[in-house]
Amino acid sequence: MARILDGNRVRDDIKNELKPRVDALIAKGRPPGLAVVLVGHNPASEIYVRNKIKACQDLGIYSESSTPPESVSTEELLRIVEQLNARPDIDGILVQLPLPPQVDTKRILLAVAPAKDVDGFHPCNVGNLVAGLPGPRACTPAGILELLKRFEIPIAGKRAVVVGRSDIVGKPVAFLLLHENATVTICHSKTRDLAERCREAEILVAAMGRPAMITGDYLTPGVTVIDVGTNRLDKRVDVARIFRNSAEKLASFEKKGSVLVGDVDPLDVAEKAGAYTPVPGGVGPLTIAMLMANTVASAERRLGVC
Ligand code: NAP
Repeated sequence: MARILDGNRVRDDIKNELKPRVDALIAKGRPPGLAVVLVGHNPASEIYVRNKIKACQDLGIYSESSTPPESVSTEELLRIVEQLNARPDIDGILVQLPLPPQVDTKRILLAVAPAKDVDGFHPCNVGNLVAGLPGPRACTPAGILELLKRFEIPIAGKRAVVVGRSDIVGKPVAFLLLHENATVTICHSKTRDLAERCREAEILVAAMGRPAMITGDYLTPGVTVIDVGTNRLDKRVDVARIFRNSAEKLASFEKKGSVLVGDVDPLDVAEKAGAYTPVPGGVGPLTIAMLMANTVASAERRLGVC
């Protein structure tokens, strides 16, 4: 039986560990502060931001959101970020992506003060990651490492294969695994013999955004699988195919109009892996937990607590 790597449990543990650190900061003068910039009315972004603010409230972290309109210009957004950079009570700034097409996203992300870059996307912090220096790490990759460590999955000396090379998941998770002494292969859409590369993995991280693409023939028995993919299936025929006509999934689809699936075939992984993250309930819950952890760590640094 494959072990299920329960992200909800790890998220709860992380939050329980953060609470006394937040209380210590409050006792020292003020709570940690997170500012979220949410442009326009993207429904998915609105849900993410609501969940982030709720997590702050649960922990006693101060949070606020700026909500400029969809028509905002790069210059206007830069001014908002600069004001937040200058605020002593704000330890973390998060600009919710994607931004509208008229906005120069790279300029905005570059404008966030590296010390307040709780997403870990600023080139300074990417450099810190590559060099193995302290600094905020991208939240989803950091959550994956927490998950592996807390479930005591050995990393040193293991062959890790990361499928996907994005700046927010694939590349940073590859560096984090490398720093833990895994032997890392990064694959992408131009990789030849992908199934063969994946079968070499003892730890396989799937982050392509391709529903259930990694099937049983990509998996070597006993592999640890981290499925980052979060894909919404909104066609009944896809739900029926991927979940092999599961009555439970089809009922869930009829009720909600969609079903989530990762980048790994959910039935094949349960059969072949030694351990795996389910979707939902695996990697997903850790992203916000690590955002909270980065915000608390930033406040501790800025208030001289650590
Ligand atoms: P992304 O920026 O679209 O990058 C996808 C990567 O996968 C690219 O490097 C791409 O290769 C590669 N790829 C695409 N198709 C492939 C194929 N057929 N074979 C091999 N490689 C392929 O995506 P992302 O932002 O990293 O996100 C990846 C997935 O993780 C998405 O489902 C996203 O929703 C999910 N996600 C989840 C969380 C969470 O909190 N759970 C957080 C972030 C992302 P090229 O570079 O060659 O194009």
